[in-house]
Amino acid sequence: MGTYLATSYTIRDRLLQLWNDTQEYYKKEKVKQVCYISIEFLMGRFLQNAIINLNLEENYKKALAGMGYALEEIYEEELDPALGNGGLGRLAACFLDTLATHNYPAWGYGLRYNYGLFKQSIGTDGEQLEKTDIWLDKPYPFMVENHFIRIPIGFCGTVEDYVDPNTKETKEESNRSIWKPSEYVIAQANDILIPGYGTDNTNTLRLWSARAVEELDFEKFSFGDFKGASEQRLNAENLTNVLYPNDNEAEGKELRFKQQYFLVAATLYDIIRRLKEQKRPLEELPDFSAIQLNDTHPTLAIPELMRILVDQEMIEWDKAWEITQKTFSYTNHTILPEALERWPVKLITKLLPRHMQIIEMINWKFLEKNSQVGQNNKSKELRSKLSIIENSWDTLVRMAWLGCIGSHKVNGVSPIHSNIIKDQLFSHFSSIWPKKFVNVTNGVTPRRWLHACNPKLSDLITSTLESDDWIYDLSHLSKLREFADNEDFQLKWAAIKQYNKKKLQRFVKEQFGLDIGVHDVIYDVQIKRIHEYKRQLMNILSHVYNYLQIKKMTEEEKKQLEKKVVIIAGKAAPGYKAAKMIIKLINRVSKVINNDPEIGDLLKVIYIPNYSVTIAELLIPATDVSEHISTPGTEASGTSNMKFVLNGAITLGTYDGANLEIIENIGEENVFTFGIKASEVSQVKQNNIEKGAWNLMPKSLQGVLGIIEEGKFGDPEEFRMILQELKGVDRYILGNDFTSYLQAQKVINETWKNPEKWWKMSIIGCAGSGWASSDRTIKDYAETIWDIKPCPLPKIESNSQLNIIKNDQKLKLNKNYEKKINYYEKQIVLHQKNKRFRRVYNILDDWEK
Ligand SMILES: *Cc1c(COP(=O)(O)O)cnc(C)c1O
Repeated sequence: MGTYLATSYTIRDRLLQLWNDTQEYYKKEKVKQVCYISIEFLMGRFLQNAIINLNLEENYKKALAGMGYALEEIYEEELDPALGNGGLGRLAACFLDTLATHNYPAWGYGLRYNYGLFKQSIGTDGEQLEKTDIWLDKPYPFMVENHFIRIPIGFCGTVEDYVDPNTKETKEESNRSIWKPSEYVIAQANDILIPGYGTDNTNTLRLWSARAVEELDFEKFSFGDFKGASEQRLNAENLTNVLYPNDNEAEGKELRFKQQYFLVAATLYDIIRRLKEQKRPLEELPDFSAIQLNDTHPTLAIPELMRILVDQEMIEWDKAWEITQKTFSYTNHTILPEALERWPVKLITKLLPRHMQIIEMINWKFLEKNSQVGQNNKSKELRSKLSIIENSWDTLVRMAWLGCIGSHKVNGVSPIHSNIIKDQLFSHFSSIWPKKFVNVTNGVTPRRWLHACNPKLSDLITSTLESDDWIYDLSHLSKLREFADNEDFQLKWAAIKQYNKKKLQRFVKEQFGLDIGVHDVIYDVQIKRIHEYKRQLMNILSHVYNYLQIKKMTEEEKKQLEKKVVIIAGKAAPGYKAAKMIIKLINRVSKVINNDPEIGDLLKVIYIPNYSVTIAELLIPATDVSEHISTPGTEASGTSNMKFVLNGAITLGTYDGANLEIIENIGEENVFTFGIKASEVSQVKQNNIEKGAWNLMPKSLQGVLGIIEEGKFGDPEEFRMILQELKGVDRYILGNDFTSYLQAQKVINETWKNPEKWWKMSIIGCAGSGWASSDRTIKDYAETIWDIKPCPLPKIESNSQLNIIKNDQKLKLNKNYEKKINYYEKQIVLHQKNKRFRRVYNILDDWEK
């Protein structure tokens, strides 16, 4: 741990220098910046990424080797800050890498939760166990608390009429009021510096943490009420304690709402502070910063900006509204009804009374303009469709509506998803503003998701293309296509897959004591959050079916079979009963299959606990087939499908999300597709409701459910909820897709028998994935939504601090190579000797005992 920390601090030192230079330069150039507000950032490990981006891997390897350490082992000591749930948070992290790499002036804004997403383990009954992730208990060297940035954030209180100081009059039509909060919490900035690949530009991820206004209430303290005094502090700090563990589901907790406001209020304060630093008026905000709202969680930024402009800056309502709309844009991430956030008016009124008034005013003005008030049913219906405020079981604010109305652009994250939001979810808005709705397909950073996680494949690509330009322009991968049939290239390609599979094999052996094969075994992987719409249940049920088939086979028939290792990983939200049942079922099935001597190594099912970015980096390069089998129309995009195809895994997928982009870019003959199209889903659902899903289900699936009900995998009562859903309505239409899913698996097994064909498909997949780079995604955002341009730091040779780094990058040409290595060794030793760190190491050494 000591060496890891020392190494990390030397990297942080360099980043701090580069960061200072970058921020000064942005200020000097007065460039337009983008601020990406997201309630989650799922960053993964930092050190390797930073060392690679700074082009220092060779140097550090050598320097550490000189001291008897292997750099790879040092990487392994780092923990993953789990400040996100899944795809949405990881997308934000990929975007930060791209923004820095391509020199965009950019800020990420999020929350520094004290506890990350829970740590998952599997109990003896196969059930998910959850443990708190107290990640800040150990030092995290890449985050620096910025003591200069502390912002008071108000809550509750009252709203008073604004009185003109000159005329002493209150003017109704000014729409101005004064909010007097009754509580304050301090937002403390914690900065993570974001290096780009092959550039000096270093951006900021600013994460807010909550602290009490006064560390201790001294009045209480002096009366001896120590408990009361520290209570206030605890209450304040509770605010950023936990990340809510739901993915694609809204949780209506008051504390979550407070987190959302805390995030946007601190962020807007920070952005406006920087604008004012440049002595520019607030009218220029849209030219100073584009603000992207990652899903609806930060949409309170819209009424908050209105409050600042109208109440504090005395800007007239209509002008303020124009500024607001021009500044914000909103990304929709899901159309699942349970994920669309709606907050009770009562709750908002209590916590943010002034904001509720502003939301009502925004709504009123919008409705006035866009729907005639009439008494007939049609105009009433239109009004209730358009209204931000919904009257159902309660009076609720629809956050997605607020996001649409308050932004100049609204985007979906894949073509199919963008069409659904335009034509269905927001059809009433898209007819008012046809140009507001656009598509920006998600992407992933090729630095982490190919170059760093699959170094052997990265080297092969670079040597084949005779250039590493593909690392920042992924469209160059298309040139690999001409090697798809090349025998020598195919062999190397396949050998790298074997190498990566061996690494995973060792991991499985160490973790679970389980032996899995590598040669002639298909690694079939589905890793993502556990959710009914993602249909992990269909996956495991199909392998129960396959298991039953194998049991019926003769030894001769078994010899014809392809061997398969099925790997599933993913966390379920602790309150999501059906998802937790699915995890339990997977583990029960795994136990039966893996321990059945009649099955041998023909089929293994492995559940890998505690899925994370780091686990993904291990699994993805080792995968032959990756499963993206959501019900059509439910997965907005998916991003792991892109990571896999980039690493030569062949997609087994439905016609959903970005799978459709994969199909379009590499040809359907290179993807294993199955199931119905999104347009057919509603008819199937209707049939299920009318006739009962059980009656429409294929015999194969009925048989599987029968075996579960017989108790083959333990007491069937434990799975009753998911079985009843399948037999009743089957909302995610597993029954309907089951037969064609099994058929697709057959095609996979047949294709596997033909290695030339298999590796050709695999290579073509990678070659046709240039579009999947988040570099392409960010270029789309920059040009069509944000209107921002790159601002690369000039290479000033006289700048002494920058020179150190430049010289390092030219190291291969540098005669003083050994001297440089010495320099790194000295830096690391220096950090190790530092007394303050020494104390930390002692504590850490104790932990490790
Ligand atoms: C990419 C990624 C995701 C998103 O996966 P999907 O299959 O697109 O849902 C979730 N979690 C982690 C750790 C990831 O790296």
